[in-house]
Amino acid sequence: MKNSATITAISTSPGKGAIAVIRMSGPLTFTIIKKVYRPVIESNNKYYLNLKTTHLGSICDKEEWIDEVLITLYKAPNSYTGDDMAEISCHGSTYIQHRILQVLIKYGARPAETGEFTLMAFIHGKMDLSQAEAVADLIDARSQTAHTLAKQQMRGGYSEKIKALRKKMVSFASLIELELDFSEEDVTFADRDQLKKLLADLKNEIKALHASFSLGNVLKHGIPIAIVGSPNAGKSTLLNALLNEERALVSDIPGTTRDTIEDTIVINGTAYRFIDTAGLRESEEKIEIMGMKRTWEKIDKAAVVLYVIDGNAHTEKQATTMVNGLLKNLDARFTKKQIDTKKIIVVVNKCDLKSGIPYQRAFKGVDHTVYISAKEQQHLEKIIEILSQTAAIQRLEEELVVTNTRHFYALERSLEAIREIEKGLSSSIPTDLVAVDIRTAMHYLGEITGEISSQEVLESIFSTFCIGK
Ligand code: GDP
Repeated sequence: MKNSATITAISTSPGKGAIAVIRMSGPLTFTIIKKVYRPVIESNNKYYLNLKTTHLGSICDKEEWIDEVLITLYKAPNSYTGDDMAEISCHGSTYIQHRILQVLIKYGARPAETGEFTLMAFIHGKMDLSQAEAVADLIDARSQTAHTLAKQQMRGGYSEKIKALRKKMVSFASLIELELDFSEEDVTFADRDQLKKLLADLKNEIKALHASFSLGNVLKHGIPIAIVGSPNAGKSTLLNALLNEERALVSDIPGTTRDTIEDTIVINGTAYRFIDTAGLRESEEKIEIMGMKRTWEKIDKAAVVLYVIDGNAHTEKQATTMVNGLLKNLDARFTKKQIDTKKIIVVVNKCDLKSGIPYQRAFKGVDHTVYISAKEQQHLEKIIEILSQTAAIQRLEEELVVTNTRHFYALERSLEAIREIEKGLSSSIPTDLVAVDIRTAMHYLGEITGEISSQEVLESIFSTFCIGK
């Protein structure tokens, strides 16, 4: 691994800012700093390298003065990467940022690759792989929930759990291996019932983590909401009102909202991903059929369905038929379990106009009915209130939730291996074959924390990071 190089990058986001931070890490860090940094008080020069503090001075390239900066120096191993490190806070002009970077490179550093600082931290044992991945999630966090999930993973609670599971698996393996060593002598060291019990416990724990992914994934990326209903019901207007931005095409022409538009809002710390969809209207027109197909695909993905009805255009009887039609279609397309996980909300819109549907009429078979005016932005808070009830952030503080797809698949594979072990233990499969499955299960658990990792896996993980992280 390329950990002998000294790397450097601009760590703040690209573009102009009040200040910018340039990072450098590696064995040449202090040598390069000595060449380019001039402390304000010359006599401080000989002391500063020993200090893990911040210093005021200038960055210069020989006679050329570039900027007044603050540098923070970290001596290995007490740094983010575990190597000698410097963080230079300069003025945020893009010219200055790049000029300083150029100078550092001129004196021996090389440009860092994406995520390379964090990769170094992983290589030097500063954090395990799942913690390193959590750093990226933390930077990406757009809501309190996403932040809570990333924070938990970064602080290592999740890794500890995985490591504990792997440790249990190791002790299980050693019992089996012992039996294997003495197989010639036909002795059974490990009590089969005890082994089965241990395995069942392990399986349940892994299963619980594996199952938490569907929640974790939704919370991390936003709870998906499908806004559906007939053309002109006011779906785009509602979306706009909720997003408070003109992002959807609002039009008087029926069926013009044909492209799906996705956007996110954050309510009480939880992100919701709105999925605007084309009308649910029955139509022979090809593009409309595509739109309806897409509508059902969106409903399929949604945790919350907002079924918008134009209260001005329909009678109570018509609206009831429409709601029942939706419910019937849901029944035909989805399993009961799938429907149970979806919250169906009937939104009677255009309440600023004369309505054919009496207020407070709650439709049967759906979770909620609300009466709003999307255009006049009336009673939108009722929708917001229902949405905030769908997420329970407080629970997350104690729970370990899997949010990472890579971890999810690793857990899945270790579960598959455990099922094979179980099969092996219950049949007369030779112990050495069972041992193969045990190693497989351990391998996948180890992949999550990086106790087992390949160059390829590391590259694919860190390539998704930003430069300077
Ligand atoms: P969509 O086809 O369901 O997306 O419907 P739009 O959002 O494009 O709305 C269709 C028309 O109804 C537009 O002219 C909107 O201005 C209008 N509209 C939407 N919501 C309301 C509302 O609450 N009150 C009134 N009076 N008009 C509305």
